Amino acid sequence: SVPLGYFAGIGAASKKGVLIKGGNYLEVLKDLDTIVFDKTGTLTTGTFSVTEINGNDEDALLRYAAYAESYSTHPIAQSIVKRYGKAIDKAEISDVEEIAGHGVSVVVNGERIYAGNIKLMNKFNIQAPTVDADGTLVYVAKDNQYLGYLVIADTIKPSTKNALAELKHLGIKKTVMLTGDREKTASHVAEQVGIDEVHAQLLPTDKVNEIEKILSNGKNGKVAFVGDGINDAPVLARCDLGIAMGGIGSEAAIEAADIVLMKDNIDAIGDAIRVAKKTQKIMN
Ligand code: ADP
Ligand code: MG
Repeated sequence: SVPLGYFAGIGAASKKGVLIKGGNYLEVLKDLDTIVFDKTGTLTTGTFSVTEINGNDEDALLRYAAYAESYSTHPIAQSIVKRYGKAIDKAEISDVEEIAGHGVSVVVNGERIYAGNIKLMNKFNIQAPTVDADGTLVYVAKDNQYLGYLVIADTIKPSTKNALAELKHLGIKKTVMLTGDREKTASHVAEQVGIDEVHAQLLPTDKVNEIEKILSNGKNGKVAFVGDGINDAPVLARCDLGIAMGGIGSEAAIEAADIVLMKDNIDAIGDAIRVAKKTQKIMN
């Protein structure tokens, strides 16, 4: 049977916008030691905008990028399509391919276009320069010929820094960020919000491996992961406690999670920990 206190705890958490899928997760919550966060959409708003366009023909570059990204639902893709601002003739586009953690490749009027990070360029043997920019780089290439790049910047959620400080106050010993984004962008975000450890440039499968390492090293205690993407589902399922964003989160992430944050804000994790600790006191 389920102890009554659990129902009270789950009810109290739901009033704070936290959906807890079972009483046992209250137990894990109150004993958490380490919280691992996905960056995009979790610590940052996930609302990207194009801050720089760099190439010989910038209008053409933006047009190719927008056409290439027009089938992708990735926030990066949507920011590029939005910046382009013109109608996209889908009849010109064929052979759409999205490569997780890399970018996209499509055929536009018979010419193959690539838009994505340096890994995508390397994968197709396209020579692209290393660029030092504050943001995510999207390289654009046509028929394996590098054309230029766009810089896409994301904004940190205003509440992230305080929420992380609060978690430390509530006894969380370590915070970690896992991201597919570049090292430079990732550490820049981590420094601003106060994250202890950063693992960048991870593919979806790397994220699972990284969580396995964190879980098995013996020093991290009970580990939660907080994420929102389709790619995050295996990681959410693997850790001691999976926490998903309810509004922006993908269906797969919400399904795989043990706890869902209805307000897409990590503030509520502190509220949930407080409820869990209080529930424990009532039951003892
Ligand atoms: P995260 O949520 O941590 O940013 P993702 O796996 O969603 O991780 O993306 C990792 C990286 O892959 C992005 O930072 C970007 O460089 C690249 N990427 C993924 N999808 C796209 C896309 N549609 N267009 C351009 N780049 C992309
Ligand atoms: Mg993500």
